[in-house]
Amino acid sequence: MVKKILVVDDSALIHQMYRLVMNGYKCEIVDAMDGQEALDILARQHDIQLVLLDINMPVMNGIRFMEKAAAIGITSKIPIIIISTEGKEADTVRGLALGARGYLKKPFQPSDLHVLIDKVMTGAAVPANGEYASPPAAAAF
Ligand SMILES: [Mg+2]
Repeated sequence: MVKKILVVDDSALIHQMYRLVMNGYKCEIVDAMDGQEALDILARQHDIQLVLLDINMPVMNGIRFMEKAAAIGITSKIPIIIISTEGKEADTVRGLALGARGYLKKPFQPSDLHVLIDKVMTGAAVPANGEYASPPAAAAF
């Protein structure tokens, strides 16, 4: 069971949506509007157990965040799920290569997110290659 989630997205509406979608989890949700703010929060708050990461954001996008998070060892400590946009498969592949544990494409059903979070949080040995999510079709590249 996850107790504290960092949601990284540049849309305040998306932050509200996650609060609704995660309502039954009784977890605390911390909001960051871009990758830099997410890094700042992670540097201060050491009890964050999961990161839900948008890719397309101003200031610092999700891929740059993943590069920095990997460089300072965050990706090996805290599971990160990429919430990607349809048609941006290359970003997802890059994020998984940098250590994201899984990904979802927008739009998704709440149950899709619940299943993925439960798998990521209960995985005794969570793989660093995102194998909990099916890889994007090779044809997409
Ligand atoms: Mg965005």
